[in-house]
Amino acid sequence: MNNNHKLATKLIHAGAEPDPSTGAIMTPIYQTSTYVQSAPGVNKGYEYARSQNPTRKALEDAYAIIENAKHALAFSSGVAATDAVIKLLAPGDEVICAHDMYGGTYRLFTKIFEKFGIKFLPCDTTDANNITPLITANTKLIWIETPTNPLMNITDIAAVSAIAKAHNVILCVDNTFASPYLQNPLDMGADIVMHSATKYLGGHSDVIQGALMMNSDDLREKLYFIQKSCGAVPGPMDCFLVLRGIKTLGVRMKAHCENGEKIANYLRIHPKVGKVYWCGFADHHNHAIATKQMRGFGGMMSFVLKDDSVEAATKVLCSTKLFSLAESLGGVESLINHPASMTHASIPREERLKVGLVDGLIRLSIGIEDADDLIEDLANAIG
Ligand SMILES: *Cc1c(COP(=O)(O)O)cnc(C)c1O
Repeated sequence: MNNNHKLATKLIHAGAEPDPSTGAIMTPIYQTSTYVQSAPGVNKGYEYARSQNPTRKALEDAYAIIENAKHALAFSSGVAATDAVIKLLAPGDEVICAHDMYGGTYRLFTKIFEKFGIKFLPCDTTDANNITPLITANTKLIWIETPTNPLMNITDIAAVSAIAKAHNVILCVDNTFASPYLQNPLDMGADIVMHSATKYLGGHSDVIQGALMMNSDDLREKLYFIQKSCGAVPGPMDCFLVLRGIKTLGVRMKAHCENGEKIANYLRIHPKVGKVYWCGFADHHNHAIATKQMRGFGGMMSFVLKDDSVEAATKVLCSTKLFSLAESLGGVESLINHPASMTHASIPREERLKVGLVDGLIRLSIGIEDADDLIEDLANAIG
């Protein structure tokens, strides 16, 4: 396989080499903590499994290839990957971030890192011009998420990257919602891409994992040092599961996008449904940017009923049969979720309401079941 191959080919072959000892086509699960040396310091490049593991290496090679990156690092969760990025910073440093990020990212920034003297300045990054006035001599990182969880807001990655470069600031993009199938932020000038591989990359709701991809050798060295020093590494079984998941990312994402479009259009004309948040609609406020930087619009969406009470939302949340009421997203099965009390409960209510994350909001992760069955399930639940 080479870099000229198309994504569908890369997804199948990235990182996959026949096992040198047996020829096994699938990367073995190297379930080991250490490696035998023939003399002190004489080894095959593997010393201790917090620092190196062959299954993890195969996955990290795959991660790099599918994000068009030179390097990648795997972490024990998405938030562990985020945690490693913030550990590039020092007390007094400032981070400009999106004001409607994933709840766990918000919690990590405000509840863990603020007390170590790192300052986070949230702003509405859907207009990149809002970022420049916040930049000071202490700004070291810009953190954006696009599309955002759960309101599907879109930020112009190339525009933010130009601002970051002009001020010599690192730009990290949480690309979890789009997945590498729909969007590649490094190609638009980002310095680091972060993924919760728990979601679309794993794709089967059976593993927690995170990833960072980057082109800079310097950033790779610094982040590898943090990875091995802080130790939030994934086990080999989890690496195997994500390697396996990535092989079908192409066919899954195609189905997520097709189902997503049908269901978004169904909800939009439903008489009991108020606003539907999906970046594929022509009247989504940043649809032009979404079209420019994404190859499709995915299977994530949120909506509010015309009766926007929590009671009405709860009735729908508890009435679906195919959609399971659960946190997380990006798996083959459809999920329904109440951000205010579930995924985004760690964000104070006033903060949530400021960005439009109302109490009655319902989020859907559209799976790859038959779209007609999913629509029937929603029809019955909404009534
Ligand atoms: C789930 C999620 C995370 C956190 O990842 P974990 O694997 O749960 O630690 C970060 N960002 C986004 C957008 C997510 O959906």
